Amino acid sequence: MNKLYGHTPAQLSELVALLGWPSFTASQLTQWLYHAPFVEIKDMSNISKARREILAARFVVGRLVPESSRSSRDGTRKYLFESPEDGAVFEAVSIPDKQRHTLCISSQSGCKRGCTFCMTAQLGAGRNLSVGEILSQYQGIPERDQITNIVFMGMGEPLDNLPNTLAALEILTTVCGLSTRRITVSTIGILPQLEELLNATSVRLALSLHSPFAQERESFLPTETLHPTRDILTLLRDRREDKCRRITIEYIPFAGLNDSPKHAHELIKILRGLMVRVNLIPWNTIPGTHLQSSDPRRVEAFRAELERGGVPATIRTSRGPDIAAACGMLAGVRVPL
Ligand code: SAH
Repeated sequence: MNKLYGHTPAQLSELVALLGWPSFTASQLTQWLYHAPFVEIKDMSNISKARREILAARFVVGRLVPESSRSSRDGTRKYLFESPEDGAVFEAVSIPDKQRHTLCISSQSGCKRGCTFCMTAQLGAGRNLSVGEILSQYQGIPERDQITNIVFMGMGEPLDNLPNTLAALEILTTVCGLSTRRITVSTIGILPQLEELLNATSVRLALSLHSPFAQERESFLPTETLHPTRDILTLLRDRREDKCRRITIEYIPFAGLNDSPKHAHELIKILRGLMVRVNLIPWNTIPGTHLQSSDPRRVEAFRAELERGGVPATIRTSRGPDIAAACGMLAGVRVPL
């Protein structure tokens, strides 16, 4: 059955026009789908009964709720969703903090990009999430009204699912009223999709870099050859219209690999002329690799070196590691409650 949830306002207008109904029915549908407490089509009371029946013969709303959830000692909550159609699983992580409540959502079930340090990569390609599946991770959880920030840092590579990511961003910003400043899309940087994303929306960007040296980056993240950092940074540097866009560079320091002063200096060099902040992410150990996380003192020294070179740098606190909810640990695994 087709789903209404996930349709953009323009798609709802098109649908309503096809059915020969007045255009305000599209606004009513938008309200029911994205603003009202969840209702089925039969309960959309300001739409005539006859029209509700016509809609219900072709559509369901199709918003998902989580299959299960787990809570961390630190208040982080991980939600597991499962598609009733093909059983694809995906996760969202809700992270309360002092002044904000961030929700980390997935754009794919699995990922084809093969980053050697990431758990989701071990699932393989999986599939793209639909717009409704992306939005359900936000609107389908109990604390949706508390969420202040959304980050696309869960399972998958958003730029490999760009049309659905863009439609979800449109609904989040124009219909749900979340500011673009409170949404961040994290990516390894796929060209030309990155440019399309930047043209389409002013949400914040996080770029997963992990090494300033091409060969080493390729060894962590096998897309460097196809989508070189050099070209990605040139694109970001050349976009004058983007002066205000906050860009974060994500960097996981691995012991004895990419955490040396030489790396810090090269990073400073390649980021010159860009308004960026580096976020150092402590690596969350996953099985099946020889990688090791850098010692915290070394990470701090790396951070200080970047700052000395004029690059603002912070160290991310890991949230929810006890429930495998931290960065790169999402693999859609069902755990007995
Ligand atoms: N594909 C996108 C978004 C998902 S990953 C991207 O790569 O940016 C979100 C962030 O978590 C990325 O910066 C990624 O490099 C990081 N990450 C992946 N695995 C990790 C792990 N095991 N420990 C810490 N961070 C990890």
